[in-house]
Amino acid sequence: MCGIVGFTGNNEAAPILLDGLSKLEYRGYDSAGIAVRNGDAEPEIVKAKGKLKVLKEMTNDGKAVKGACGIGHTRWATHGEPSTVNAHPHCSDDENVIAVHNGIIENYQELREKLIKKGYTFKSETDTEVAVKLIDYYYKKYLGTPVDALNHALVRIRGSYALAVMFKDYPGEIYAARKDSPMIIGVTGGESYLASDVPAILKYTRNVYYIGNMELAKLTKGAVAFYNLDGEEIQKEMKTIEWDAEAAEKSGYEHFMLKEIHEQPKVIKDTINSVLADGNISFESVGLSDEDMKNIQQVYIVACGSAYHVGMVAQYVIEELTSLSVRVELASEFRYRQMKLAKNSLAIIISQSGETADSLAALRLCKEKGVKTLGIVNVVGSS
Ligand code: GLU
Repeated sequence: MCGIVGFTGNNEAAPILLDGLSKLEYRGYDSAGIAVRNGDAEPEIVKAKGKLKVLKEMTNDGKAVKGACGIGHTRWATHGEPSTVNAHPHCSDDENVIAVHNGIIENYQELREKLIKKGYTFKSETDTEVAVKLIDYYYKKYLGTPVDALNHALVRIRGSYALAVMFKDYPGEIYAARKDSPMIIGVTGGESYLASDVPAILKYTRNVYYIGNMELAKLTKGAVAFYNLDGEEIQKEMKTIEWDAEAAEKSGYEHFMLKEIHEQPKVIKDTINSVLADGNISFESVGLSDEDMKNIQQVYIVACGSAYHVGMVAQYVIEELTSLSVRVELASEFRYRQMKLAKNSLAIIISQSGETADSLAALRLCKEKGVKTLGIVNVVGSS
């Protein structure tokens, strides 16, 4: 879940987008990209793996990309490795629809297959590209407005999202939608701003609108209109942000740890979402069949540091919900102990970075002994 920014107004968009993205850097990301339109000309899309610095260098701090309307993104990969191809923005093949997305589309595989049957092809491994092409599909099928196309697509999408979308036929306009992922809009002095988090637009305005769950917004220069899923216009109240920039980064919490504690329900939901298929948990996508799961009798949770403490909590939950016996092991001890590891065990390795040396060594040991393994990490594409 990373960063989204959008701008439409009279000034050059690219430097504003890059500046906004830099204010969201503290959230972490693996790649970044922007799409900018100059009037009704074809949009320019620039993306790069790695730090925002790379994107800034490629675009001469945004000065090389002309246009007063654009969207930008910093990505924290959930579907597909961190790479330039998988970085956002994504677009339909004819660049009719261009979008950035935060969150996870749970039923992306099913939608992808449907779109392939309709003749769509896919360049990236992301769930986002599926959403973009679904919007394009409905836009062309019903020949309606962008709001109609978004509504048709959104009722078919399951999961969480904050989306910022541009349509070829609507220069100078940005459409936004959200469900379970934050998004705010600021309007000031003939210009409109969009962001997934307050710090990105605080420099320009403190007067913001919060888009509600399952609502849409249309941003034009200095104005915004909101819609419900039936396409009816709805009224929203403007709110004033009282926090300073530092407090805004912490969403108003006193410190980051407190913010992270409050984010736990959402983080757990997002993690479980990644293995949900049609409302059921399925580990097929990570190589564990239902048969494999049924044969498991013993679970080892192996981790270090705070991930180990997460494992302790998970132990109680798994024991309460299943008849499995669960042991939590410190990875640094696990790898040196002379333990009898039964083949019908599952080792769950938890690591924020996906690179913790002792946890990786424990993982290799389990694989050598033929024990089934499952990794829970925060970095897609890590070891
Ligand atoms: N699921 C999307 C992806 O993997 C968006 C990730 C994000 O929120 O940055 O590209």
